[in-house]
Amino acid sequence: MARVEFRNVVKEYHDEKRGTFTAVAGSNFVIEDKEFVVFVGPSGCGKTTSLRMIAGLERQSSGDIIIGDRIVNELHPKDRDIAMVFQDYALYPHMTIKENLSFGLKNLKRPKAEIEKKVMDASNILGLTEMLDRKPRELSGGQRQRVAVGRAIVRDPQVFLFDEPLSNLDAKLRIQMRVELSELHKRLGATIVYVTHDQVEAMTLGERIVVMNKGRIQQIASPGVLYNEPQNMFVAGFIGSPAMNFMDARIENGNVHIEGASFALTDAMVKGLRAYEGKEVVLGIRPEHIYGEEFAEKMNVSKENSMKSNVQVIENLGAETLLYFRVGARMVTARVNPETEARIGQMMTFVFDRNKLHFFDPATEERIL
Ligand code: ATP
Repeated sequence: MARVEFRNVVKEYHDEKRGTFTAVAGSNFVIEDKEFVVFVGPSGCGKTTSLRMIAGLERQSSGDIIIGDRIVNELHPKDRDIAMVFQDYALYPHMTIKENLSFGLKNLKRPKAEIEKKVMDASNILGLTEMLDRKPRELSGGQRQRVAVGRAIVRDPQVFLFDEPLSNLDAKLRIQMRVELSELHKRLGATIVYVTHDQVEAMTLGERIVVMNKGRIQQIASPGVLYNEPQNMFVAGFIGSPAMNFMDARIENGNVHIEGASFALTDAMVKGLRAYEGKEVVLGIRPEHIYGEEFAEKMNVSKENSMKSNVQVIENLGAETLLYFRVGARMVTARVNPETEARIGQMMTFVFDRNKLHFFDPATEERIL
């Protein structure tokens, strides 16, 4: 069993400038055996620190870390049965690829035949057999990245830890490596913990995602749940691109009012928002759920919830077009069909899909429904 668990794990750093700084503020989670879990969040949110604590490269200030069925708090990194793949690959430049792959096992004084077999197996899986005699500098970025993964595979660890392994690759290669990593996970059936600041990478790779901000876990869920039911405004704004639109709103008599428009709520929404009758809320809607009039007609979306506004900015991205318009002081984005005809300054009708509205408490920023 290769599950990983954090129980109230805190990490504080002490330095002269900041005094005591809490990088991880009491994390709790369970990563199940064979699961692919991604830690995601903006720079400085504590994701790398969390990963390094699993590896044993950082010691937590308090709390327990469990790998498999052991509390590993006191265990040295080499005794934790994990393998970590770093952002910069950390390959030995003077060694051949084969030597790089065998190095860890040689250090462990494993029999020669076993090392040979494991290196060959890993090279086959990763398509490295042709380059075993080359040095790292003779490989492309993507190939080097594969060697770094290969070095982890030969160790046959309980848990793989990845720290932003694709960040040094160009956009096309990142997409290719993303697919390869997903396939590798299926093939190895291993537990993987993966750190990235890129929400698209997190959404495509993670079976579950741990969203972090300022040292605190914001939500742990599958990509679908994060997208459809974000726990708070941070998660709602972080997951999805372009980001969810937020508007100041007020609930009154079964309607939600924003500046310049008023939308009828569904019965379920009226019920869920009962405590907010007559009060301010934040209305959220993703750009892909605001439609042009024609598209709404075609898709049979009720045009009851629509508003008129002038198009302020148009961004044509080829497969889709982003239209920006104002609601009060806020700029709102609609992601529309590229065939939608629009000119800057044109008055357009924007249809808000009423089944896709999100509501947040303006004080706590938590999801209401
Ligand atoms: P990034 O995406 O930029 O790597 P991150 O989410 O991985 O960010 P961490 O590296 O975990 O963030 O750092 C979390 C916080 O802890 C940051 O504010 C960082 O400055 C601080 N921190 C990390 N290591 C140390 C250290 N050795 N001493 C003091 N503060 C540290």
